[in-house]
Amino acid sequence: MAMMLIGGRNNKMIYSFRQNNSGGYYTKPAKNIIVKNARDASHAIEIATDAGMYVDGVASGVDCSCCGDRWYGIDDEHDTLDDAIAWVSDGYRDHDGIPQYIVVDDLDVLDTVL
Ligand SMILES: [Zn+2]
Repeated sequence: MAMMLIGGRNNKMIYSFRQNNSGGYYTKPAKNIIVKNARDASHAIEIATDAGMYVDGVASGVDCSCCGDRWYGIDDEHDTLDDAIAWVSDGYRDHDGIPQYIVVDDLDVLDTVL
């Protein structure tokens, strides 16, 4: 608990966005986008969108209608970055060159690429 308070910014929720392989493939930036240091859920969506996440892909014609939307917005929330990374890790480092996950924050900097 004490560690969570260091710097006063680390007590914010971590959000993860999971990509569906619409059309049978994954696209950049990564299969999962992990957003840290977001003020709230809508800020997290904003950050993920900057990183390449989008919603309503089928409705706008970019995603396969039988596979469904590539992104569905927030998939889950986590207390720590470690928890989030553990949650999105499925034993693969990448999927045909697409990283398993990236970590982004409101500075729009890609901090961590697996
Ligand atoms: Zn399909």
